[in-house]
Amino acid sequence: MVRSTDCPKCQGKMTGGVIVDNGYGAATISQWQPGPAIRSRWLGLKIRKKELIPTVTYRCTRCGFLESYAPPV
Ligand SMILES: [Zn+2]
Repeated sequence: MVRSTDCPKCQGKMTGGVIVDNGYGAATISQWQPGPAIRSRWLGLKIRKKELIPTVTYRCTRCGFLESYAPPV
């Protein structure tokens, strides 16, 4: 996560981080799952844990633009 790139919108500096989800008392990192979101009666969304990839998000310090990656695990 020590990558630093220029913002594609304004050429400002991009810094790495994660999108934090504050769930039921536990903070987690947003994860990417292939395919459309399918609702689940009990879980909110159907989740296929084996297919989840933690995401890394870069934020422009000048304009706030966010760029997310789900790198290979
Ligand atoms: Zn920018």
